[in-house]
Amino acid sequence: MTATLHFLGTSDSKGVPRFWCNCPVCHEARSSVQGRPGFNRRTRPGALLRGNGETLLLDCGPDLHAQLSRLGGPFVPGAVLISHAHNDHVLGLGDLLDYVTSAGGQLRIYAPAAVLPDIRARFAYAFQGQPEGSSPPVQPIPDEGLELCGYRVRAFEVPHGANGTSHAFHFAAAPSTSAPPPFPPSVSALPASIPGRWVYMTDAVDVPDGLAGAWLQDLDLLVLGTSFRDESETDHSGRSVYDVREALALPWARAARRVLLSHLSHDIDVRQVLPDRKYSYATDGLSVSLNVPAVPRTGRP
Ligand SMILES: [Zn+2]
Ligand SMILES: [Zn+2]
Repeated sequence: MTATLHFLGTSDSKGVPRFWCNCPVCHEARSSVQGRPGFNRRTRPGALLRGNGETLLLDCGPDLHAQLSRLGGPFVPGAVLISHAHNDHVLGLGDLLDYVTSAGGQLRIYAPAAVLPDIRARFAYAFQGQPEGSSPPVQPIPDEGLELCGYRVRAFEVPHGANGTSHAFHFAAAPSTSAPPPFPPSVSALPASIPGRWVYMTDAVDVPDGLAGAWLQDLDLLVLGTSFRDESETDHSGRSVYDVREALALPWARAARRVLLSHLSHDIDVRQVLPDRKYSYATDGLSVSLNVPAVPRTGRP
């Protein structure tokens, strides 16, 4: 099976450029390169997975409307997974709920059970007036996970430092039945990337060894959030996301066959090459081709 991971947004919570900032990265992000946005122009984090004839949206931040509008035609994802209820990951949810209520559409939206009360509080209108017996608009992700896009997808809670907790998504190849439709418009296959088992973890810091041992071993691809290059001067109690320096040193990240860094703030210039070639920066619009074994391997979560 071939699947495609398409990065809709790769910034931290504030976007790049930050609208009030004229640092070199924000300046470059505002520039135009042959009619295209600067290399560092990036929107709030989200990704679209397509495989096995299905599509899955990972998070729905405040830039979701513009991100989906850029896809070149009408598009509604088959399912949506929400990692946590922070603005940069959830404020596009209103647009998705509007599609259901205004257009009468069907959309499977899931979040970890622990996140549902937050979502219900912030989008209360969407949960009110439901016909008796109908399902609420956002469902809990079952512990055993979901079969989506040719993967068994499971969510696991991760520490988010000063910001509480978040969740990451673990994908393990599941038996496939059909080839994916052609998508997206441009695919840049990363060399030697054959992810049958991968993790999308944008908002985490201080992941305990036990958690890493359970979920972050033997990965073909790790998408990891690193807001800044080096926050060693910052009081650790105020930290909420890994930095690039840490990502390059974390044993479980180093053990992954490929690492893509996302959730990038405005002190990261994606034109700079990282010292370890297995690491690279994700950019808005990047598509990664995932060639997935059709039969799940055993002995791993
Ligand atoms: Zn975030
Ligand atoms: Zn800036």
